[in-house]
Amino acid sequence: DPHTGAAAALAALRAGHEREHLDVATKSYRVDPYARPGERYATVRALAAGGAAAAEALLGELKEAGLRGMGGAGFPTALKWRTVRDAVSDEKFVVCNADESEPGTFKDRELLASLPHLVWEGMLLGAVVVGARRAIVYLRHEYELERRALAREQEVAARVAGELGVELEIFVSPGGYIMGEETALLEALEDRRGEPRNKPPFPGIAGLFGRPTLINNVETLTMATAIAARGAAWWKAQGLRGCAGLKFVSISGDVASPGVYEIATGTTIAELVALAGGVPDGAAVQAVMPGGASTAFLTADALDTPLDFDHLRRAGSSLGSGAVIVVAAGRDMLELGANVTRFFRNESCGKCVPCRVGTEKAVVLLDRWLAGEAAEDTPELLRQLDRTLGQTSICGLGQVALLPVVSILDRLPPTRPTRRS
Ligand code: SF4
Repeated sequence: DPHTGAAAALAALRAGHEREHLDVATKSYRVDPYARPGERYATVRALAAGGAAAAEALLGELKEAGLRGMGGAGFPTALKWRTVRDAVSDEKFVVCNADESEPGTFKDRELLASLPHLVWEGMLLGAVVVGARRAIVYLRHEYELERRALAREQEVAARVAGELGVELEIFVSPGGYIMGEETALLEALEDRRGEPRNKPPFPGIAGLFGRPTLINNVETLTMATAIAARGAAWWKAQGLRGCAGLKFVSISGDVASPGVYEIATGTTIAELVALAGGVPDGAAVQAVMPGGASTAFLTADALDTPLDFDHLRRAGSSLGSGAVIVVAAGRDMLELGANVTRFFRNESCGKCVPCRVGTEKAVVLLDRWLAGEAAEDTPELLRQLDRTLGQTSICGLGQVALLPVVSILDRLPPTRPTRRS
């Protein structure tokens, strides 16, 4: 019976996947400050016991450490926590954004599966500092195994949260790339259609149900726990080449061992590629997307760039969501650029015209180019669309949708001909 066969194959696949995750749970990471489970949550208990002075001291440590948001935007964490702490309201929230959906990005998944105690403790630290009584993990709907790991640890974390007067919750995202945008996520939590809101006001001032809301990515909260436990000086000493701290990166594409790696911030792209087993068959690297599908492609001459926010910005790209995608020589960059653009076209929520119409227009232009039927002014039209989307789209999706393709035009000009219009 083909149905029984398919069901058995699926069950075997799932069992294998679960085994893989169990292996993950036994891995140890440098970022974890606790040698034994019994020691966990000691940091947040000490913070709560220390009152306002301890909260101020933690904000000072986060600022000194230079921790920035690891979801993509890189906003200074201490400043975000300070904004919500200083906001006057009878109700505040903490939300952990675990709706990891950026193509190539799967580092948060590893953290949720293997270090859920650091995620929960980071949320509790945030709740104590800003004065929130509800802390919600907003989880990608496909992350069922990670949900189970989080739920198991929630039983432990809830006891600590109870002492602190904080409620913990896991909310499974309705699904879709845009649902991870921080204001679309708030709409979903409020049981409305998940479309981004106009900003300002920012969530730190008016977030969930209009109340000040601290929204941090999974990795940011994990790192905040490590810094709270060990201090900014320890954190800074973990980095390389003048960079501070540790970083979880997912690397995929043309490498022998794709996966998640915990590296010192400041490790170069070339060193990470080597760590991931190098490019199969000794092929050369043609291009790298250093921070997921929303970031500009870098060429092989940028391989010695350290992986950190400032170095990558100076190199003309971004650390984004910490997802390095490697492209070997010989791959068709125009096809790749069109593929990324199609993704953003498909995921556009359609709320604003420039993104809804502009991404479709770009896909049509690229498909014509791939078919050898592009007008001569196609590259210029794509650049114009990129500028328009960057200036007029409501949210990050539209603002960066054409960035990868324009970086290809700038740095790896396609050799496919365009014809005279
Ligand atoms: Fe939706 Fe795109 Fe507008 Fe963002 S930029 S709100 S995804 S239509």
